[in-house]
Amino acid sequence: MTLPNLSAGCSMADMANIDQVEDCWEQLGEICGTNPDADGKQQIVPVTYMNSSAALKAFCGRHGGIVCTSSNAHAVLEWAFARGKRVLFFPDQHLGRNTALAMGMSLDQMPVWNPYKPAGGAEDPSVYADAKMILWKGFCSVHQRFTVDQIERARKAYPGVKVIVHPECSMDVVNAADGTGSTAYIVKEIANAPAGSAVAVGTEINLVNRLAAQYPDKTVFCLDPVVCPCSTMYRIHPAYLAWALENIEQGNIVNRITVDEDTARDAKIALQRMLEVHP
Ligand code: SF4
Repeated sequence: MTLPNLSAGCSMADMANIDQVEDCWEQLGEICGTNPDADGKQQIVPVTYMNSSAALKAFCGRHGGIVCTSSNAHAVLEWAFARGKRVLFFPDQHLGRNTALAMGMSLDQMPVWNPYKPAGGAEDPSVYADAKMILWKGFCSVHQRFTVDQIERARKAYPGVKVIVHPECSMDVVNAADGTGSTAYIVKEIANAPAGSAVAVGTEINLVNRLAAQYPDKTVFCLDPVVCPCSTMYRIHPAYLAWALENIEQGNIVNRITVDEDTARDAKIALQRMLEVHP
């Protein structure tokens, strides 16, 4: 595997590292217990978003957990709650919260774990024992920029506009939108929107621009007027990609990414579980 630019990445993924997650797991074990309950359910099932390091996926593989994407988060959480009393969801709190709310959980069942505060930041650690979802305090810097105010302005400027946002946006933004879903959902909604309609989108700008160019008969625009692309993702510039591909063509793997055997094996377990839930 190659990474065309070694400084590229995801700032959200970097908000949870393996040492912090191991430390959180140990503390939650002291609060919630570590033995299965009378029904044989795990006390906590760890669930990591796809945007996370191999080490975190391996952690989930080792501890009866699983990986999710924004498309399958709902199905993955159902899988997790069939096996455990609680879920520890990382690194994106918004995807976890929005999905759990849509599944009928309430906010008071979803305390946040802040890895930079003692005991996760809760005044009373028993909130974690009473929780259904424990949300890691991570976020996507791009999706967190969208606001309810932007939605209101879009509705004023384009009466009848349909507002669709990604579930990495905050709960308030998701609640104020007409629809929320993964990238695949956004692509489908815009494809199916009638000609002449307006769609305001709360997600990464390059996708929005691509869809706007693809459907010139519709008004497709980004909710955020101050375009702020993802600075870490865009380090995979086309020039770097071309350089990496040209090298592969000549038999050279540049910027090779390696994962040790144990990590690869355990991460694969968590990924395989996800594929079995949502092929
Ligand atoms: S937009 Fe950037 S920070 Fe946000 S999830 Fe994607 S890669 Fe990560």
